[in-house]
Amino acid sequence: MSRYDVVIVGAGVTGCAIARELARGQRNIAVLEKNADICEGTSKANSGIVHAGYDAKEGTLKAKLNVRGNEMMEELSKKLDFPFRRNGSLVLCFNEEDLPKLEVLKDRGEKNGVKGIRILTPAEVWEMEPNITKDLAGALFAPTGGIVCPFGMTEAFAENASVNGVDFYFEKEVTSIEKTADGFKVICWNEIYETKAVINAAGVFADEIHNMVSDKKLKIVPRRGQYNLLDKKCGDFVDKTIFQLPSKLGKGILVTPTVHGNLLVGPTAEDLDDKTDTDTTAEGMSKVFKEAALSAPDINKKMVITSFSGLRAHFDESGPGDFLIEELDKAPGFFDVAGIESPGLSAAPAIGQYVAEMVNRRFPVPDRIGFVESRKGIPNMANASDEERESLIKQNPLFANVICRCEFVTEGEIVEAIDRPVGARTLDGIKRRTRAGMGRCQSGFCQPKVLEILERELNTDRGNVCKSGSGSEVLKGFTKEDSL
Ligand SMILES: Cc1cc2nc3c(=O)[nH]c(=O)nc-3n(C[C@H](O)[C@H](O)[C@H](O)COP(=O)(O)OP(=O)(O)OC[C@H]3O[C@@H](n4cnc5c(N)ncnc54)[C@H](O)[C@@H]3O)c2cc1C
Repeated sequence: MSRYDVVIVGAGVTGCAIARELARGQRNIAVLEKNADICEGTSKANSGIVHAGYDAKEGTLKAKLNVRGNEMMEELSKKLDFPFRRNGSLVLCFNEEDLPKLEVLKDRGEKNGVKGIRILTPAEVWEMEPNITKDLAGALFAPTGGIVCPFGMTEAFAENASVNGVDFYFEKEVTSIEKTADGFKVICWNEIYETKAVINAAGVFADEIHNMVSDKKLKIVPRRGQYNLLDKKCGDFVDKTIFQLPSKLGKGILVTPTVHGNLLVGPTAEDLDDKTDTDTTAEGMSKVFKEAALSAPDINKKMVITSFSGLRAHFDESGPGDFLIEELDKAPGFFDVAGIESPGLSAAPAIGQYVAEMVNRRFPVPDRIGFVESRKGIPNMANASDEERESLIKQNPLFANVICRCEFVTEGEIVEAIDRPVGARTLDGIKRRTRAGMGRCQSGFCQPKVLEILERELNTDRGNVCKSGSGSEVLKGFTKEDSL
């Protein structure tokens, strides 16, 4: 049996941000994650937008933590070295009679504390964004909107938390939680973690973790969003994130550059029963392009390099309709961080602080002496200057061996991704940390090489190397085995 002061369930962006903030105090913290790596849930499949903060109703946690998270993002991205760009966003309005809805958004944004928002005429929009539709009545411009690498941010939180003493456990699925005299027993099949405090940051499964300790049941309905990702050749088709006026189901179909220079189009919004259904469908893909064409008719569909989908943790109609971040009255020491749908990524840094403040009030501890505040990311040969490249190659010749030609990722970067704290153990883990396999060929060429590097560095058999954890082993046997 392991004993901790705090156990966090879930290693998505929320759980990792909370872990980092809680590590500022002298306490033992464990993060239990049922998948084989960080960032395997919703945090890996979203729009990567740092919302300005005009969508959520004033006074809600969504509004406050979104605006606060947005304000924190720039400094944090420098401190923890993850990709972020404040590119600004536009909400398009296609007809005159809907213009008052832009005013409502602007008004709400101002009440939420969003700085610099203003309504633009069509001519002003076209000057900023020449590829936007000519059927335009106006747009709301939010200069504080941004784009971020969701993997990079989650990885940065996790690494920094680990350096500050947090223990990460993977392939540990929490199956039940029992109250004890001074806390909880968190049970992962046949393993027990004893703890004074539990943080429920389990994404679309947060209702199930909550329901393990509470009679007041929650229900999360996974709301799927499908995307098309386009080649970097289209990355500058738009500069700002282009939204349409939001509907009841969400913020509608957006067109945005990603922080790595691709073009992203999506997402749909479909309520499902299955919390694991991240399939993409022909209907979803065509809906995405059809609706995106209202904003920008000339998007080149032929440049799609992949499609993917993510699941929003949306409460059913009996739920709070806001982020649910609170300690349970009937289970003191158990903290829900549930219903973290959009703008959860934008809000994550602020959610981390907010939860840490709550836990500190309940379980005060002295500050950790020597807390490490910053972290340097994996060197990036694709973006490095000639001098930087030369210096890296001098230190380690593996930085001269290009493994992923589409994204220009070297063996040195891949080995470093494996060797770092909370390092990669799977092909997907390498992909998210280094971008090897994220390019036009979608790992067609580099996967066998990455597999060999994982085999060598993890000192394992190549048959054990997985795409994303147990059960996803890539090599099953020899071809023509029977004839060998
Ligand atoms: C389509 C879509 C678009 C979005 N776009 C944006 C955007 O542009 N900007 C923005 O701000 N937000 C956006 N969001 C929201 C954002 O992605 C989420 O709010 C955020 O990623 C939630 O992070 P999380 O850590 O709470 O959940 P997750 O990333 O899902 O992490 C939860 C983790 O808990 C683990 N877990 C679950 N059950 C257990 C268990 N029993 N035992 C152990 N571990 C368990 C899971 O495996 C998972 O890794 C979007 C979401 C979607 C779906």
